[in-house]
Amino acid sequence: MIEKLIIIGSGPAGLTAAVYAARADLSPLMIEGVGAGGQLMLTTDVENYPGFPDGVMGPELMGLFRKQAERFGTRIVTSDVSRVDFSTRPFGVWVGDDEYRADSIIISTGASARWLGIPGEERLRGHGVSACATCDGFFFKEREIIVVGGGDSAMEEALFLTKFASKVTVVHRRDEFRASKIMATRVLQHPKIEVMWNSTVTEILGDTGVTGVRVSNVASGDVSEVPVEGVFMAIGHDPNTALFDGVLELDEKGYLTTFGNTSTSVKGVFAAGDVVDHTYRQAITAAGMGCAAAIDAERWLESGE
Ligand code: NAP
Repeated sequence: MIEKLIIIGSGPAGLTAAVYAARADLSPLMIEGVGAGGQLMLTTDVENYPGFPDGVMGPELMGLFRKQAERFGTRIVTSDVSRVDFSTRPFGVWVGDDEYRADSIIISTGASARWLGIPGEERLRGHGVSACATCDGFFFKEREIIVVGGGDSAMEEALFLTKFASKVTVVHRRDEFRASKIMATRVLQHPKIEVMWNSTVTEILGDTGVTGVRVSNVASGDVSEVPVEGVFMAIGHDPNTALFDGVLELDEKGYLTTFGNTSTSVKGVFAAGDVVDHTYRQAITAAGMGCAAAIDAERWLESGE
């Protein structure tokens, strides 16, 4: 059987593409991956998604997206794609030995925040440990927090968090920031921000919520405990594009390259959401791109190119 459209990935971009494609009678097949729902599954309250004035839990929001996609006939396979072949049409997508064929593809595999992999980090994720200040900063009013990282994201997150937190400590592993000068200067001059140079966080402390971090000075070897209630990781994101390396054009940071609209370097293959976007990285922007990708795919299929 040849599908009209296969959507790979099931965060806000993929599920919005599915809603639009299903309503356009493309009867999409979604291969949602075992990490179904994307990064919102790792957050608690989402208060900036329009339409939910009282906020909504991340997993609940993704459940609603999924229900809406299924309502219009999206079929969902809960497995990871293991291989793709976009060199011939219909395009090939494999889940283990199962082969799927489709006339068009939308890729919405997202990106993954980098984590330190230290004790306490995974256990306290969503309970004081976050990788998104825009999503979770609001919950830290008048609290002391740390931001880990020395790039532009860390600067941006630290500056944003000063709106809420009583004190922000940036913990960076070297003695100079990687961030652009202008961002670094803003951080260094901010009265609410302190910097711990040459320092790495080795453990996050707390039972049901964060109570502090253990920090090691890489120069002196000294270990100290810093009492904080929030830890924001800003050590970069990696786009989930390993499957497409050598198949589609990627930019120098590994994100899928799109041309004009949501088209990738192979005609009939479209991409949306964080897998192409290293600027905005919001659920609402991903959803918007998913909508655009479904419309682009529908128009492309109709054009018979
Ligand atoms: P990035 O530039 O790669 O910076 C990552 C930071 O995390 C670096 O300071 C790095 O330290 C640190 N780091 C990485 N792994 C670590 C580890 N295991 N332990 C401790 N520290 C670790 O990533 P980014 O800040 O997310 O920025 C990504 C891109 O987006 C950049 O090109 C950036 O300019 C751009 N961006 C721009 C803006 C803006 O212009 N407003 C905002 C956000 C992002 P080292 O420095 O020692 O390597």
